[in-house]
Amino acid sequence: MYKVVIIGSGGAGMTAAIEASKNIDNILLLTKSGLGFSNTAMAQGGIAASICEPDNPEVHYEDTMKCGHFDNVPALVRVLTGSSMEVVRWLEEQGLNFDRDKTGRYMFKPSIGSTFPRLLSCGDNIGARIVTVLAEKVRGSGVTVKENHRVLDIKRRKKVFQVYCEANGRIVIECERILLSSGGSCYKIAAQKKLITSNCSDATGEVMEMAVKLGAKTAERDSLQYHPMGYVLPLSLRGRPVPESLLSLGAVLSDREGPIDIEKVGRRSDLSAYMFKRHDENKAYRVGEAGAFKLDISPVLEKYGKDFLKKSFPGLASVAKTQGMDLDKDPFFVFPTLHYQNGGIVIDGNAWTGVEGMYAAGEITGGVHGSNRLMGNSLLDVICFGRIAGIAAARG
Ligand SMILES: Cc1cc2nc3c(=O)[nH]c(=O)nc-3n(C[C@H](O)[C@H](O)[C@H](O)COP(=O)(O)OP(=O)(O)OC[C@H]3O[C@@H](n4cnc5c(N)ncnc54)[C@H](O)[C@@H]3O)c2cc1C
Repeated sequence: MYKVVIIGSGGAGMTAAIEASKNIDNILLLTKSGLGFSNTAMAQGGIAASICEPDNPEVHYEDTMKCGHFDNVPALVRVLTGSSMEVVRWLEEQGLNFDRDKTGRYMFKPSIGSTFPRLLSCGDNIGARIVTVLAEKVRGSGVTVKENHRVLDIKRRKKVFQVYCEANGRIVIECERILLSSGGSCYKIAAQKKLITSNCSDATGEVMEMAVKLGAKTAERDSLQYHPMGYVLPLSLRGRPVPESLLSLGAVLSDREGPIDIEKVGRRSDLSAYMFKRHDENKAYRVGEAGAFKLDISPVLEKYGKDFLKKSFPGLASVAKTQGMDLDKDPFFVFPTLHYQNGGIVIDGNAWTGVEGMYAAGEITGGVHGSNRLMGNSLLDVICFGRIAGIAAARG
């Protein structure tokens, strides 16, 4: 029997595994696909880090609550926004290098809803970099990893959890404590509602239902976030987000009647809602059958130069290149894409779910982000609460 079983190998699960393994042996990490296959691996923009003046955790707290429509649990937001210095240091200890300027100082990117530029990035593929360094640490941590193990059900017999898995046949694994870090459900919901989504195909949400059956409570569980700028074209990237920080850097989003005033429209949720409204009013462009908005990034090129784009947004620059686009003239076409599950399982400040022996961290949880997550706060969440959950589950 294992002491702790961790479900999922995104940012939250792997962080938890690393921290738990510093405290105890006999830990198992189960994951549906390969180690690190997750939404975390797809993150682009950056992690929120209120670590340099004039920014600070208090302003970060206010921004997070406001963005979350004040539906957040204040105590969890305090833990989150107070953690960024420690989280940045921890990630650097694992081997992550954030972008810095020529003098060696952190480069903070602006983002909608944040009072000050607050996003620390690694080009535009921070998620893949985080997953790479964490996977290497997990492999060296002594934690047993079982890939291609899909959890089908979790039962409780007295004080023992029984985890039913599909892995070339059905198996049952027993453990004393369980840590849920299996992410959100946007991929499944998008498929049901025929929406475009930014999420990976493992984001199907079934583990949250299992936790509810065992007595876990949920908060804001039906609250979903749309990223305003999913690619409409190319088709191979449909739904994947174009980095939103481009808007804060001066890119212009337009419908058929002209530019949208981003400052006036406001938060991520408000912008997506506004775009859906404009689409319903027949003010969006059409690309084939799909509604679309134009994103002109030539003002960003004018202001910062083409090299800046290549360095800071290499993924975007490469899409433009493979599509043969001249970014001084050719816009991207975008549309809101289903992106994030704002709510989920209720936890306390120790990542405990209220069910004996059951902990949770990351996108599966609810309360931290209220009903609308502030950009960059999810990566902060998975590392901050992943660490807390790993330590708490190890101690029991
Ligand atoms: C395209 C994209 C860009 C993003 N950009 C940013 C950004 O710039 N900044 C930011 O802060 N956030 C960003 N986010 C959000 C953020 O990356 C994720 O919400 C967050 O990383 C979720 O981490 P997680 O560990 O909770 O879940 P995930 O990373 O989704 O990991 C869940 C894990 O659980 C496994 N799993 C699921 N179900 C089962 C099961 N039944 N059995 C076994 N294993 C299971 C999955 O295979 C996966 O390994 C982005 C998200 C997307 C999709």
